[in-house]
Amino acid sequence: MPQTTTRNLTVNFDRLRDDIQQLAAVGRHEDHGIYRMAFTDEDMEGRDWLRDQIESTELHYYRDGAANVFARTDPDSDQPTVIIGSHLDTVPAGGHLDGALGVLVGLECLRRIHEEGITTRYPLELVAFSDEEGRFGGPFGSQALCGELNPEGIYTAVDLNGIYLSEVMQQHGLDPMEALQARRSPDSVHAYLEVHIEQGPVLDNLHCSIGLVTGFTGLFKWFIRLKGKADHAGTTPMNMRTDALGGLSEFSTEIPRILEENGSDNSVATIGKIDLFPGTANTVPGEVEFSLDVRDPNVDILAELALAFRKALSAIARRRNLMFEFDILSELEPSPCHPEIYNTIKRAAEQMDLPYHEMPSGAVHDAQILSHFTRVGMIFVPSKDGRSHSPAEWTHWEDIETGANLALQSLLTIAEAE
Ligand SMILES: [Zn+2]
Repeated sequence: MPQTTTRNLTVNFDRLRDDIQQLAAVGRHEDHGIYRMAFTDEDMEGRDWLRDQIESTELHYYRDGAANVFARTDPDSDQPTVIIGSHLDTVPAGGHLDGALGVLVGLECLRRIHEEGITTRYPLELVAFSDEEGRFGGPFGSQALCGELNPEGIYTAVDLNGIYLSEVMQQHGLDPMEALQARRSPDSVHAYLEVHIEQGPVLDNLHCSIGLVTGFTGLFKWFIRLKGKADHAGTTPMNMRTDALGGLSEFSTEIPRILEENGSDNSVATIGKIDLFPGTANTVPGEVEFSLDVRDPNVDILAELALAFRKALSAIARRRNLMFEFDILSELEPSPCHPEIYNTIKRAAEQMDLPYHEMPSGAVHDAQILSHFTRVGMIFVPSKDGRSHSPAEWTHWEDIETGANLALQSLLTIAEAE
């Protein structure tokens, strides 16, 4: 048998597959969806499962104030660490790979390196971040690590059902204010690496196992209200109505034009939620509330799109005699992956003879938050038919193995480089 060196070290794929299947059973319901929403009992069970895996190795286990779960090599070293990981929480009825894959690949990488007795110049850390899916607005765990939280934000964070973050953390014996202590110094982190499913159809269509993430799209998310008058559906003539839904309909048909004129090939815009008021069949809708989610990887284009959408909405409102208001729910600046880390992954892929596709990430990931803070690299593996946030989420095992081995090689190189 050829001797194992760092250059031909590979993951123990059977063990990784077992881990993925075991964790997929935590929080799985009869509809086959996984319900590990942040700080639910199922989410805490997932974290406990991970702790048990870490403790069954000789890796050092710890949890920070934001309930992020860590494993690390060489806990006594004061060198900055290379962190690899993702998140364990899911959306309701989520799939088994979103987040979990990145955590389990990270765990497997650390285990293999430890088993071979390899010591790296920079110690390694595995992380499973809290509430990446943003049940409470988040991504909470990665924001905590990067020092982006404040006490007011923690105490006012609430989910769609009116449940407070502080309340659920206390139920699990956690002190919400401790999340402020999870803040790390940028000097304590050498780089961050994340493996994630693409959650879109691009790699699957190309039959390509590896996506090299160039950077993260920025976004703005608005909550928009158009207000007219709620009148009787039988007695109000058509020309005497101020129907708020009419305004929304006109706006939604203008979206493709606005993207064409002011956006790029990467621009996307979505109205994902609509509520009509009073919401009865025999009343003209006097008010409509809806969400608008707009994304692009270029900061200037994103600003231009915001302006164009605002102008279009106020023009429609004026013409139709509606009142127009909007709240900004979230804004995130686009950010590139770090060129050094990106090139390290790219060289590793070339040395392994792996075809790859270079692409931006359209979804928000912990790596995007970390990119404000340290050098970040990210690897995508394909999502079958682009499906995610659903029990239909699937990635072929061969693609998972390929992605995990690329992560292992990249991690070793990053942890050795100056
Ligand atoms: Zn995810």
